Amino acid sequence: MSYIDWYEKHAVKHKKIIDKLTAQGYGKEQIIEYFEYENMAKNEKEFCPLYERGDKCHDTDYLNCYFCACPHFRFKDDGVEKIGSKTKYSFCSIESKNGAEGVYGDAIHQDCSKCLVPHTKKYVTKNFDLSWKKVMSDCQL
Ligand code: SF4
Repeated sequence: MSYIDWYEKHAVKHKKIIDKLTAQGYGKEQIIEYFEYENMAKNEKEFCPLYERGDKCHDTDYLNCYFCACPHFRFKDDGVEKIGSKTKYSFCSIESKNGAEGVYGDAIHQDCSKCLVPHTKKYVTKNFDLSWKKVMSDCQL
């Protein structure tokens, strides 16, 4: 699946949940808590394939899925830049110290598996917006 396919599909899934919760009168705090991994894995199985397997994308006790993937992620499906014979397709706009470059054959993709920046309650609270697409609007280059 290309980045943009994932991005568009994820936006629809996120909005569907937000529409459901706001129709039920959920406020910001309740929505943020609803998006905590344990609740999402129990009540929103379609949102992420990891839920079914009981896996987490990050090795951490607290994981909030509201800003999955991440507002700082940048991607371009036809390549950000050529580096020798390889093509870079994504990177981190804040150069997180816990981010890394993953090299897969001729492709380089940002590896966020050790970075928790968008998954903490503090970050989600500070950057909260009901529109996932608005917060993620800079991700596609
Ligand atoms: S943050 Fe991790 S567990 Fe949560 S939806 Fe995204 S990939 Fe799945």
